[in-house]
Amino acid sequence: MTHHATVVVGAGIAGLTTALALAHEGLPATVLERAGAPRDAGGGIQLPPNAVRVLQQLGLGRALAEHAVRPVGVEVRRWSDGHLLGWTRLGATASFRYDAAYYTLTRAALHRLLRTAVTEACGAGTVRYGRGCERLAESASGVTMRLSDGTYLDAGTVIGADGLHSVVRRRFADDALRHSGYQVHRTVLPGGRGGPAGFRRGPARVVVWLGPDRHCVSYPVDRDHSMNVVAVLRAPYATGPGDLPGAFRGWHRDVLRLLEAAAGAGLRTWGLYDRPPLPRWHSARVAVIGDAAHPMLPFLAQGAALAVEDAATIAGVLGRGGDLASYEAMRRHRVFRVVGAVDAARTTHHLADGARQRERDLRLAAEPADARDWLFDHRIPAGATR
Ligand SMILES: Cc1cc2nc3c(=O)[nH]c(=O)nc-3n(C[C@H](O)[C@H](O)[C@H](O)COP(=O)(O)OP(=O)(O)OC[C@H]3O[C@@H](n4cnc5c(N)ncnc54)[C@H](O)[C@@H]3O)c2cc1C
Repeated sequence: MTHHATVVVGAGIAGLTTALALAHEGLPATVLERAGAPRDAGGGIQLPPNAVRVLQQLGLGRALAEHAVRPVGVEVRRWSDGHLLGWTRLGATASFRYDAAYYTLTRAALHRLLRTAVTEACGAGTVRYGRGCERLAESASGVTMRLSDGTYLDAGTVIGADGLHSVVRRRFADDALRHSGYQVHRTVLPGGRGGPAGFRRGPARVVVWLGPDRHCVSYPVDRDHSMNVVAVLRAPYATGPGDLPGAFRGWHRDVLRLLEAAAGAGLRTWGLYDRPPLPRWHSARVAVIGDAAHPMLPFLAQGAALAVEDAATIAGVLGRGGDLASYEAMRRHRVFRVVGAVDAARTTHHLADGARQRERDLRLAAEPADARDWLFDHRIPAGATR
């Protein structure tokens, strides 16, 4: 049985960023990935400045600027009449304010950038595909893992970055997934000449439509203006992908046109889940990060961003010779603050017409320019990335 100093379980955004951040600390790592080969995830992703700043420090600034879109802002609109409820200026303003841009791109592009960076920084064999972690046992001297290919592997430290269905998390809790009552539909509308007419007007921006029990988000993911479209619905509006526009009957014509195009382009549909907060994310030799530690509903577009923050923090702690308790101590408050904001958005995004919705709209209209600073300007303590 081979011994590895640090093993990262999972080659998603959290796991790849961890391997890269560990390399920047001068620490080698092995990444185990259950999938048999690199897989490009579908759809788009918003990368807020709190994540982009970390990735810049890890050397990905130029590649992101080349492959991602920098939207000028986030528009929040009312479901039925399209009234502009709120506007967050991004673009150059965000880059200046936070020393990092707010980007949107395809998940496939982000995964590719991270894989390339890991290969360059750590070597080609760092990610071992087709080797899922099935079980692990921790002792005073190390961690032994049984892998999906029938082999065993010994490690000094294990970082579980294995997502919502994490095996490593079981070291800390035997909890079940919680269904949110919401369903999500997603597609990417092709851009360029092949794309549906009418969606390429104006500067790149994120548009969020809020309405009773449902919301819809769209943003461009490449220079061709290919458009990621996400529709979230609560039962009883949940529907088969064929009748997505029907489930938004009565919404503004711009939303309906978008959803008709999305239904025509082929939708992926799934339920939205999270898990209860973990009492502990670490033991002496094992810790969990990203969705394995704190999966959250995607209502603030921060799940992957927090995974990137976790990755830089845990690598920084290990680089300084610290223990996994320090990692958890540095992350708990931050993560639970964001999870609290996501829980609040679950209600405020989906209010029925009436007094509470009007109060929300007044709050959105009056939001000061620094309202997102706590979220976007979060800095990983010095030394976490060099
Ligand atoms: C609709 C939607 C939209 C979202 N939009 C955004 C957004 O705009 N911005 C944002 O920041 N976040 C967003 N998120 C959240 C974001 O997608 C997740 O938080 C993020 O992908 C978590 O990354 P991860 O690496 O922790 O987990 P994952 O992406 O799930 O990666 C886990 C990896 O581990 C592997 N694995 C699993 N089990 C094992 C095992 N036993 N052994 C070895 N390997 C294993 C998996 O194959 C996978 O490669 C969104 C989520 C949803 C559902």
